Amino acid sequence: KQIEVSTPKRTKEIIQKHGFSFKKSLGQNFLIDSNILNRIVGAAELTEEKGALEIGPGIGALTQRLAQEAKKVTAIEIDQRLIPILSEIFEEESKVNVVHADVLNVDLHQLFKEQFADCSKVSVVANLPYYVTTPILMKLLEEKLPLEHIVVMIQKEVAQRMAAKPGGKEYGSLSVAVQYYCTTEIVCTVPHTVFIPQPNVDSAVIKLTLREKPAVDVEDEAFFFRVVQGAFAQRRKTLMNNLLGLTGKDKRAELTELLDRIGIDATRRGETLSLEEYAVLSRALAQSGL
Ligand code: SAM
Repeated sequence: KQIEVSTPKRTKEIIQKHGFSFKKSLGQNFLIDSNILNRIVGAAELTEEKGALEIGPGIGALTQRLAQEAKKVTAIEIDQRLIPILSEIFEEESKVNVVHADVLNVDLHQLFKEQFADCSKVSVVANLPYYVTTPILMKLLEEKLPLEHIVVMIQKEVAQRMAAKPGGKEYGSLSVAVQYYCTTEIVCTVPHTVFIPQPNVDSAVIKLTLREKPAVDVEDEAFFFRVVQGAFAQRRKTLMNNLLGLTGKDKRAELTELLDRIGIDATRRGETLSLEEYAVLSRALAQSGL
């Protein structure tokens, strides 16, 4: 059996042996707590039939646990210095495949074809670099990859925004975008002490479960998201004033009539509208040609 990577002692040994120095700019905070790893891996519901895509394996603390549960693990790591370290650690683990790349530049559909053709389902499981959390997650969702779950450690505030319901200050265009594609569950919040080095922000594990079809019916997704973005553009402003920013100031009368017709009060704020209301609004706006 392989020695566990994630213990503080082993992590320090690996780092010292290879003379590795952490790069803050790459969001390198490695996990050194097996309980948290168990929570992450447990939430992913892996089996010996399923595949796991990891983004940012670091020295492989999570990768190792994923390999114990899944049929196959593909891990995409941007930092060239970690590639030989990972090769050495997983020398005898044929389930693990490390790809040296920036995940934002990877053709993930192609990678899925190459790596996961023989897996029944695939989930993304990762302790994400915090500086690119949102672009990475939006790439996974917008490219409509055939994923079961996305279980990721991210900054706590971002997790709360993704899972937020209408009405609160955390609810915004990110909540709508994520919930359009997924159901959300915050698995646990995580103290700084489980990382080396310790990050300056609080962390949480969030589980996104991909919906079979989007939460609401919209004819034109790009337009729907433009309307949502527009409605949240200035949070202190009313829905009407934010929508005027989209349509042009001279459309007040038409907008008043439209909002009246669909039963949405023009003085509400964007943060109070549900996904269903955004869908109704964007369909009405699209039809009106405003
Ligand atoms: N999974 C490891 C763990 O839990 O200990 C490391 C997690 S660390 C928070 C994030 C990892 O993502 C680092 O190894 C970093 O080099 C890598 N990374 C940062 N930006 C990346 C990118 N754009 N594409 C792929 N990997 C990236």
